[in-house]
Amino acid sequence: MQFVPDVSLAEHSTMRLGGTAAFACDITSRQDLLEALMWARDHTLPYRVIGSGSNIVWADEGFKGLLIVNAINRFELFNEDERNTYLTVGAGENWDSVVERSVAAGLSGIEAMSLIPGTAGATPIQNVGAYGQDISQVVATIEAYDTTVKDFVTIPNFDCAFGYRTSKFNTTDRGRFIITALTLHLVRTSPLPPFYPAVEHYLTDMHKTASPATIRDAVVSIRTSKLPDPAKIGNNGSFFSNPIVSAADFVQLEAEHGPMRHWEVDEGVKLSGAWLIEQVGYKNLHDQATGMATWYNQPLVLVNEKAKSTADLLAFKQAIVNAVAAKFGVQLEQEPELLP
Ligand SMILES: Cc1cc2nc3c(=O)[nH]c(=O)nc-3n(C[C@H](O)[C@H](O)[C@H](O)COP(=O)(O)OP(=O)(O)OC[C@H]3O[C@@H](n4cnc5c(N)ncnc54)[C@H](O)[C@@H]3O)c2cc1C
Repeated sequence: MQFVPDVSLAEHSTMRLGGTAAFACDITSRQDLLEALMWARDHTLPYRVIGSGSNIVWADEGFKGLLIVNAINRFELFNEDERNTYLTVGAGENWDSVVERSVAAGLSGIEAMSLIPGTAGATPIQNVGAYGQDISQVVATIEAYDTTVKDFVTIPNFDCAFGYRTSKFNTTDRGRFIITALTLHLVRTSPLPPFYPAVEHYLTDMHKTASPATIRDAVVSIRTSKLPDPAKIGNNGSFFSNPIVSAADFVQLEAEHGPMRHWEVDEGVKLSGAWLIEQVGYKNLHDQATGMATWYNQPLVLVNEKAKSTADLLAFKQAIVNAVAAKFGVQLEQEPELLP
């Protein structure tokens, strides 16, 4: 295994910004992982395990440690019976390729999560989801290295504390587990309605019935038209989560500002972050000072047009946060993690 010095972190974030890592290595097996952890310990360096960097922003100061890039591949199907199939995937597998292959095998369960950038191993961290499906609905077990007990463990779904964009891996046990594989429970049946309106419209317009393949086609088509491709322009997908306010605060906000785009949720009222940003004049805004912009048809997505540093990104982000706070008194929270 190679431990490469002075690696550009911009190459390990889809936002394409950040300093350098003191060292980086790729791991392709559990044995590689153990070797990398031992190397970091022997060199008294901190380490960080990442996938494709699609939910990471690196600081300009860089990371004075070992970057461990998960490239553990595996794709094994086990048909339990005519309906139920278990799919075990390596944590370093490209997620969309996992979706594509499961759909090609006629399996349902993850087709609506098509085209989400990143690796399979990162999906449980923030309980990745889209168009009505999330990973918590299909994870049977997770194989991980537990850095506390210093051994590989199998974590069942009920022990992951999955919630909306959360799990124990990004809350109570942040950094403790290094995921090496996932086993997903998929089914050999057609997905059942109701589907998201945009998916429903696609099926109607294309005169197609719902199957894992047609739902995948619908989601790929919708996402391609709505979101920037990180291979072409630097971005981390939604840079802010939709803020949730109490029902009482919502009544107050509407009394002051008129009707606001929102959804009722268990925790209160979820406001549309995109709408809030649009209201403060930041939709499709191209900022010459920082080289950053908001994506023309999804203002929650910040894109790096020609930013020179993470400081530029953070200045642009802060201007949006401040504008929304000043007008609505609502705090926008950043979704991608700022590291180290
Ligand atoms: C254009 C675009 C669209 C997106 N759309 C969505 C969407 O619809 N829904 C959604 O939920 N997300 C979305 N995202 C966010 C992102 O795709 C997911 O968070 C994805 O799971 C990140 O995968 P990654 O491999 O790039 O993880 P990274 O960004 O490399 O890492 C993310 C976090 O997970 C940790 N991590 C990574 N791998 C492991 C591992 N094996 N073990 C332990 N910890 C690990 C890292 O340390 C870091 O804390 C989008 C991003 C982009 C750029």
